[in-house]
Amino acid sequence: MATTKYIFVTGGVTSSLGKGIISASLGKLLQARGFKVTIQKLDPYINVDPGTLNPYEHGECYVTLDGAETDLDLGHYERFLGIPTSQANNVTTGGIYQTVINKERKGDYLGKTVQVIPHITDEIKRRIKLLGTRYKFDVVITEIGGTVGDIESLPFIESVRQLIWEMGESNSLVIHLTLVPFLSATGELKTKPTQHSVKVLLENGIQPNILILRTVKDLTLEIRKKVALFCNVNLESVIQSIDVSTIYEVPILMQKEKLDTAVIKKLKLPDSGPPELAPWKQFLRKLKNPRHTVKVGLIGKYVELQDSYKSIHESLIHAGAANDCKVEVRFIHSEDIGENNFTELLNGLKGIVVAPGFGDRGIDGKILAVKYARENNIPFFGICLGLQCAIVEFARNVIGLEKAHSTEMVTKTPDPVIDLMEDQKGITEKGGTMRLGGYPCVLKKGTLAHKAYSLNKVMERHRHRYEFNNAYLDVFEKAGMIASGINPDTGLVEIMEIPAKKWFLGVQFHPEYNSTVLKPHPLFVSFVKSSVS
Ligand code: GLN
Repeated sequence: MATTKYIFVTGGVTSSLGKGIISASLGKLLQARGFKVTIQKLDPYINVDPGTLNPYEHGECYVTLDGAETDLDLGHYERFLGIPTSQANNVTTGGIYQTVINKERKGDYLGKTVQVIPHITDEIKRRIKLLGTRYKFDVVITEIGGTVGDIESLPFIESVRQLIWEMGESNSLVIHLTLVPFLSATGELKTKPTQHSVKVLLENGIQPNILILRTVKDLTLEIRKKVALFCNVNLESVIQSIDVSTIYEVPILMQKEKLDTAVIKKLKLPDSGPPELAPWKQFLRKLKNPRHTVKVGLIGKYVELQDSYKSIHESLIHAGAANDCKVEVRFIHSEDIGENNFTELLNGLKGIVVAPGFGDRGIDGKILAVKYARENNIPFFGICLGLQCAIVEFARNVIGLEKAHSTEMVTKTPDPVIDLMEDQKGITEKGGTMRLGGYPCVLKKGTLAHKAYSLNKVMERHRHRYEFNNAYLDVFEKAGMIASGINPDTGLVEIMEIPAKKWFLGVQFHPEYNSTVLKPHPLFVSFVKSSVS
């Protein structure tokens, strides 16, 4: 297509209405109609990226193939669309200001006062358009984080206003997502918050084209008409988004509400017939009609906020559907696991995942969980720090290196089985300095990893500073824990497993960033399969 079309998704009334899922669902519908689509997230915070944020603040940090630490919504985009995102798909206020200030220091604006308008807004607009022009997408969906009316997202809203005018009719549209609360006392759905929220957008010079209303009850025609009248939109542009049991139902719901048709009409996109959603519906059928249920424990230290482990949770759901099985994930706080209670706490689990993480809080609980899984032959999957815990546990309890540890936790351990990577030594800055993004991994033939992937070489995403200390590899392999995946360029151990166990494997990378609805990750599929059998 000659011109890229731009769709902006804003949110009103409250946060957490699911702009990410709506954007991903619309992206899916347009992709399933044959368009080349990508989705971008603009985040109003001043951190340059979420890599330095504690998961309690903002949920999981999602890592792209090109090594960007990004918002967890990018995970939804990839899981729904099945195509990789990149650094360009996540823009933060911090990143925008950093670019503008660096340019100012270089003298690029010499003689001029650098201001929010036009310098900050120009940089925002450049980042929005970059995706369409550089990567030749037919449609770019840009989700604007936060809620309209927030002080911090004003420059983003102003940039959208400018872009709409610059791009002209039918090249852009704004979708506004709001909430229609249900008042149980009177038994009514109320539209006033939506009206007010649209007014805020209008005050900022933006007339939304489509309204998506989150609701717990079906909207009547009267309510839809009222919203259309007060908010200057056509009746068919008032779309209901009712609560559903799974986020993967949302594209189907949006299609029923004819969201894709409304978008195509407004953007004057060629209408090549209804979206091809057969594989998606097949996944949904499997998801909703499981033949078995399996209880899997996810051991982490940020479990109070389930968004901290979003991608792992979703990967288990995908893998469950692939196995006709419902995976019931039990989130277990690693700090709750102690010598006296671990057997009873972990009892009944058919699989154990030890999650990624940083620092020593809760580390002993994670190591105990590994020990329990290993000794009871329960399928075990260690991810990043989870693998490192498995290595420490094996060193201590099988090899007999009682004080073995990671130097991240005990700098002066006599047996540093996990140690800082060579190229991490001397790095003091925290932001964006880990080993990040995609690295190759060669799989050893005949191993569990090789069988699960059915490939000789894979590319997986990383986010860590520590690694398995190769000085111990011989001892480990002789004792029964082998390296089944190695980085061919550096020799770093990427996967370790215990072949004598039913399913015991740990990975230094993050397979969870690579699992999508239509392509569940082979390691998760294999792990769930073994847990269910
Ligand atoms: N803290 C560990 C490291 O930096 C593990 C990181 C992780 O689990 N993502 O190596």
